[in-house]
Amino acid sequence: MVKMADKPDGYEGQGFFATSLDKVIGMARANSLWPLPFATSCCGIEFMATMGATYDLARFGSERLSFSPRQADLLMVMGTIAKKMGPVLKQVYDQMAEPKWVLSVGACASSGGIFDTYSVLQGIDRIIPVDVYVPGCPPRPEQIIEGVMKIQELAKNESLRRRHSEEYKKMLESYNLT
Ligand code: SF4
Repeated sequence: MVKMADKPDGYEGQGFFATSLDKVIGMARANSLWPLPFATSCCGIEFMATMGATYDLARFGSERLSFSPRQADLLMVMGTIAKKMGPVLKQVYDQMAEPKWVLSVGACASSGGIFDTYSVLQGIDRIIPVDVYVPGCPPRPEQIIEGVMKIQELAKNESLRRRHSEEYKKMLESYNLT
């Protein structure tokens, strides 16, 4: 059964429906997120299950994976990120066009997980901003889907002005991103 996306809040009467541009664009963005899977280890396998028929991320409009940062707006980081990999991850993030969101999937991406060692980055938020964290080692596909749904909520409710705000620019500067 095909389920249509819920329409945003607005005013309607016979033959008309009115809402704000922010809400229409938010609805379109939230239901057409294009993920870039940055999968380095076991959490990536859970993501593969998330894309499979049983869980089917396509139901959320996200079946179109992108392996080019330039055609993706949701960076999904899944797995242990070695410090040597950090600059690569940062470059991938930097190459994505705005607006973009980051989902940190699993304990390793979020905090280094069990790998409290000299070679492992202790959380990707040390090098790029993260919007939503998914706990677990590994998280189940349901948890990954919940993370994507939280990103959808953010995309749906984001003001069109946010990415141009001083606060957002300062946040990027704090990560040495422009
Ligand atoms: S959080 Fe656990 S399952 Fe995920 S990459 Fe790390 S060790 Fe593997």
